[in-house]
Amino acid sequence: MEFVCENIGVSGEGHLSFAGQDTLALAEEYGTPLYLMDEDRVRFNCRTYLEAFKANFGPGSLPLYAAKAAAFKQLFRVAGEEGMGVDVVSPGEIQTALEAGFDLAGAWYHGNGKTDEDIRFALSRGVGGFVVDNVEELLALEAEAERRGIRQKAILRLTPGIDPHTYAAVNTGMVDSKFGVAIETGQALDFVRLALGQKHIELLGFHCHVGSQVFGEDVFERAAAVMLEFIAQVRKETGYVARVLDLGGGYGVRYVASDPSLDIGQKIASVAATVKEVCRKLNIPQPAIQMEPGRSIVADAGMTLYRAVAVKRIPGYKNYVTIDGGMGDDPRYALYRSRYTVLAAGKMGEEASFRCTLAGRCCESGDLIQEDILLPESVRRGDVIAVCTTGAYNYSMASNYNRFGRPALIMLRGGKSSVAVRREGLEDLTRLDV
Ligand SMILES: *Cc1c(COP(=O)(O)O)cnc(C)c1O
Repeated sequence: MEFVCENIGVSGEGHLSFAGQDTLALAEEYGTPLYLMDEDRVRFNCRTYLEAFKANFGPGSLPLYAAKAAAFKQLFRVAGEEGMGVDVVSPGEIQTALEAGFDLAGAWYHGNGKTDEDIRFALSRGVGGFVVDNVEELLALEAEAERRGIRQKAILRLTPGIDPHTYAAVNTGMVDSKFGVAIETGQALDFVRLALGQKHIELLGFHCHVGSQVFGEDVFERAAAVMLEFIAQVRKETGYVARVLDLGGGYGVRYVASDPSLDIGQKIASVAATVKEVCRKLNIPQPAIQMEPGRSIVADAGMTLYRAVAVKRIPGYKNYVTIDGGMGDDPRYALYRSRYTVLAAGKMGEEASFRCTLAGRCCESGDLIQEDILLPESVRRGDVIAVCTTGAYNYSMASNYNRFGRPALIMLRGGKSSVAVRREGLEDLTRLDV
């Protein structure tokens, strides 16, 4: 049997295994719903980027883990140990990184809505760089940096006008995006001039992020070319030469067997060739390159285990398998109609011929995890149901809708398991109520 990722298999007893561990045993030990995170896979994915960067990009180049994909202390610890930088988007992520012992000099602070309070917090904790999204932020950052008597490193977020042909909610690099400042309209050049006039901001370069779950052949190459042409234009107009070009995150991962599987090393080599070639043509020095992979670091390192609670057959219509979780722990299908591979963990030897919809237990018809999947005919209450490739944007997007507690998150490493995030109990759910 071939699975969407190498860390998925079948044990001697015919149970689904993940990171070499029996998922039924994990469900038994820790309860369900349960997030699993394969630490070895996270490290492998980090190293894939780090090695490709070392082989292809010049000094100062670094991949940053986009923490929003899955942010909890153990993950910042692992990213730090592997030598990744991080991209953070909130005081909460900064605090989590700090408590994990992550060196914030390697953190870049993103976001299109930073308040004065957010900016003060990030500066006081020593965040390495700001990715400045808009003019208001630039001026607020200048004021705060002046107050502190520092010169803050920053890059400017720009929109290169590239359509990566993924789904609309995650397209972010187009001219009409809510993020960044558009190159096409000429506003980006004004933004750069304004930034260069700020005494307490050290402008290192520019940033773009075209989208997420990107498989397109040349999306990053096109984005790099547009950004490098802009760097050349800025040099011509102002004399300023950018030293850093951040190309954002977005490489796609395999959720179902029909998805392609990207060779990240090869992708990065191709982007590097474009960067080299375009810089040569434009006669500009090659900037240090940053990228911000989130999904491709953690998605295939994750799996969620549930238990079936009901099987509903509506003759002539459709069938539902309801689980003990749902959009509270995984809102991605409700938000984006995301695809997943779903398996009956204890029945891997049985034929999967029961066509059904995997439904959550929230009071919301849209609370589905996946439609039109195949599970064994014998599926019934109590069976462990595994949803694969849930490491990205599941735990980090989880909510307490209907006041269900969020699941525990278990790290798997070298055949051992340990709790990285405890299960939310009833006392946690009422903790802030007065
Ligand atoms: C979401 C995001 C990322 C990470 O994207 P992935 O698709 O998870 O790799 C990186 N950079 C920025 C600015 C983002 O918004």
